Amino acid sequence: MSLIIQKFGGTSLADAEKIHRAARRAIRAKCAGKQVVMVVSAMGKTTDKLLELAAEVSPDPPKRELDMLLTTGEQISIALMAMAIHAAGYDAISLTGGQLGLVTDSAHTRARIQAINRNRLDCELESGAIVIAAGFQGVDAGGEITTLGRGASDTTAAALAAVLHAEVCEINTDVDGIYTADPRLIPVARKMSVISYDEMLEMAGCGAGVMHSRAIEFGKKYDVPIHVRSSFTDTPGTMIMNETKGMEDIVVRGAIIKANLATIVLTGVPNHPGVAATIFAEVSKHNILVDDIIQNFYDSGRMANVGFSTDHAQLGEAVEVCSRLSAEGGFGPVEVDDEVCKVSVVGIGMRTHTGVAAKLFNALAKARVNIHSISTSEIVISCIVRRDESHRALRAIHDAFELDEPPENEQ
Ligand code: ASP
Ligand code: MG
Repeated sequence: MSLIIQKFGGTSLADAEKIHRAARRAIRAKCAGKQVVMVVSAMGKTTDKLLELAAEVSPDPPKRELDMLLTTGEQISIALMAMAIHAAGYDAISLTGGQLGLVTDSAHTRARIQAINRNRLDCELESGAIVIAAGFQGVDAGGEITTLGRGASDTTAAALAAVLHAEVCEINTDVDGIYTADPRLIPVARKMSVISYDEMLEMAGCGAGVMHSRAIEFGKKYDVPIHVRSSFTDTPGTMIMNETKGMEDIVVRGAIIKANLATIVLTGVPNHPGVAATIFAEVSKHNILVDDIIQNFYDSGRMANVGFSTDHAQLGEAVEVCSRLSAEGGFGPVEVDDEVCKVSVVGIGMRTHTGVAAKLFNALAKARVNIHSISTSEIVISCIVRRDESHRALRAIHDAFELDEPPENEQ
């Protein structure tokens, strides 16, 4: 029998009526002859509220106790969902992470899934019940309750989909799919019908906030298609799936802005072997995120400016570390710019098409947007630009690649 995973996020479960609506979607799938596992998040903003509460009680709560607290959010949702399904006359059972056999490591608040034991799940599914699993939580080998990191109900859903060989992992959410650009910024942005795992991973890495990256990785690794769709309408959303033949015909799939970045550059660095290694070893020792590396040379290659972009929130620490390195190495001043962000285009078609960078730079030039630095990978081109020009940049790129036009065969 085919099996489907249906995940519902917090906004899709914000009140009793929405819970009933989600329940009806699961019941419809059940009546269509499928086995159904629902994965639910905490209702509405519950997780945020619990975190605020914790902060009122303690400035630095033990992580074990945070997990104990936060997992109650999902526990409310599973119980209410099971009640809603029972009220409609169907069989359902709610299971916490521990009850469904989701075992993680012991890293409280950011645990990783180690194994999922199918026994209980199989048993409940065979009895005909709709299984309602608590997202975002598990237990470690010693039975301690853990959580998988903010937004990780998606990951629970994808992991269950992998283990149970689901035909599809539905992510029911408050947006109706993945768009060629954020529709709040670009009103003509278009909903895609498909996107490859790799493209989606890059979009997420470049700032698209629709889904948890770990979930996409699970989907890719176990080849489970992920359907991102609206909880509130029946229109199909976007399928995240393996590459198919025609997919490379589309050169650029989407464009994104990653806001809240800052750049930090050590100037006057002697260009010797090992200097970059020393700098980045120190940066990584302090767990400072390096988004892109920026480097250029002058004085006939004898000297370099070496830097990186990082999350705005980590700038203070990054400046401290880099200033110390600069003083120790006798380099020049450390230059900081916290008024930047990154615009990127993503598409697997870039592997086989030429001229993408030229078109991108041309679009930015025409829009009079100055490029601070450029980074590329096989399927991404990114430019750091001034934050107050980023919206203009995104619009110019979206236009230049005609992302609002439906591709002939959207594959
Ligand atoms: N409730 C958790 C959070 O808000 C998990 C999730 O929603 O995916 O982060
Ligand atoms: Mg979420």
